[in-house]
Amino acid sequence: MSYVNEVMQKVTQRNAHEPEFLQAVAEVLESLEPVLAAHPEYIEAGVVDRIVEPERQLMFRVPWVDDQGKVQVNRGFRVQFSSAIGPYKGGLRFHPSVNLGIIKFLGFEQIFKNALTGLPMGGGKGGSDFDPRGKSDAEVMRFCQSFMTELYRHVGADTDVPAGDIGVGGREIGFLFGQYKRIVNRFEGVLTGKGINWGGSLARPEATGYGTAYFISEMLKEKNDSLAGKTVTISGYGNVGTYFIEKVNSLGGKVITIADEYGYVLDKEGIAGEKLDFLMDLWTVKRLSAKVYAEQFGLPWFEGKSPWEVPCDIAVPSATQNELNAEHAQQLIANGCYCVAEAANMPCTAEAAELFLKNKVLFGPAKAVNAGGVAVSGLEMSQNSMRYGWTFDEVDAKLYQIMVDIYAKSSSAAKKYGLEGNLIAGANIAGFLKVADAMMAQGVV
Ligand code: NDP
Repeated sequence: MSYVNEVMQKVTQRNAHEPEFLQAVAEVLESLEPVLAAHPEYIEAGVVDRIVEPERQLMFRVPWVDDQGKVQVNRGFRVQFSSAIGPYKGGLRFHPSVNLGIIKFLGFEQIFKNALTGLPMGGGKGGSDFDPRGKSDAEVMRFCQSFMTELYRHVGADTDVPAGDIGVGGREIGFLFGQYKRIVNRFEGVLTGKGINWGGSLARPEATGYGTAYFISEMLKEKNDSLAGKTVTISGYGNVGTYFIEKVNSLGGKVITIADEYGYVLDKEGIAGEKLDFLMDLWTVKRLSAKVYAEQFGLPWFEGKSPWEVPCDIAVPSATQNELNAEHAQQLIANGCYCVAEAANMPCTAEAAELFLKNKVLFGPAKAVNAGGVAVSGLEMSQNSMRYGWTFDEVDAKLYQIMVDIYAKSSSAAKKYGLEGNLIAGANIAGFLKVADAMMAQGVV
């Protein structure tokens, strides 16, 4: 049995009930085969055996009182996966589907994503099975305060710096930050995604969506192509989806779908102008279904259907893991889609990703495509340390350059190891090498 298979077998035994985590590990380990063949020193130092096991996993009770005076109990998580190249860094997700396996898959991905940005950030992730949908501001505040009352002892500006993710936006970061500051009596950059008046970075809300558009532009550039005139389909219309639409519009393309777990809206003219303003408010502020957008603008709503049945040039899943399966991939390919970029984390199943590669569809993997969010979080940490703030254009220019570099690194790593055009392998390899070398230098820890 090959070394990689042996490691995978052990990981599977230890984490048998965590399918998303196993899926994420399998994808990375498969990419590393040629690297480990060329560098047996990583095997000797047990780098791979170590990197698949989190440094620390925390699970805790989050009790809070709802508006009716009833006690509610949620479960909180923080997985501190790797501190090889910097403090643990990664978002918090509040969604009923959250469990330890989901947080571990996200934390594992984060190690390589953060390494790709070129900034000194380790990998971590956290969250809760709390559902912010339908909760009042006061309930969300009480929940966040209770969550931080446990989390504060495990995080810090030089230890672990969480950010937002699904269900955690500016409002939640504000409540979490306020409680942290109150407990430790220090104003420090313990979280990113903060408000601009209290330590946040300009362009952080835009970063993941804009970064995704920059990455796609790099993928297309290699084929002497661009986003101008292209038709794009997306799913999620939260933080990532909405700012992605804004940037695609400014680059001359158009986005014609948005979706949620109940169905999708088709807007053939493209989501722009007052329609985009309306959309920006819909999830990020009001947390309402995409159906409301269809009703507001008299557009067709496809109940229970997926946006991946709509013909397009480029498809960008931007909601959640495993939302695009093999059947969807086949449909997209049959309809002429030639570029797929993962704006969400692991939105394509392994079979779907395989089909895209086989059919020569340009395929951008999440850890490279959506790294713009954490990159600007890293820039927010730098600004906090300097007690200084860059302008929007300065941050945006740095983000652009980081995305260009991530594309170049991923593409050239794939080429170097005989996997030209396979950006999944390229991103995994480039991220791994940086972390692995740091682990080698620091001894067996
Ligand atoms: P938001 O909470 O702002 O928006 C999430 C969107 O996805 C909403 O439209 C939501 O609609 C939809 N969604 C969430 N869960 C599901 C589900 N189970 N089925 C279908 N739709 C779902 O999150 P973000 O935009 O921040 O995150 C979107 C994706 O991007 C996630 O995978 C996240 O991990 C990833 N990401 C985010 C980054 C960031 O900076 N925010 C950075 C890098 C990656 P509804 O719940 O109504 O269905």
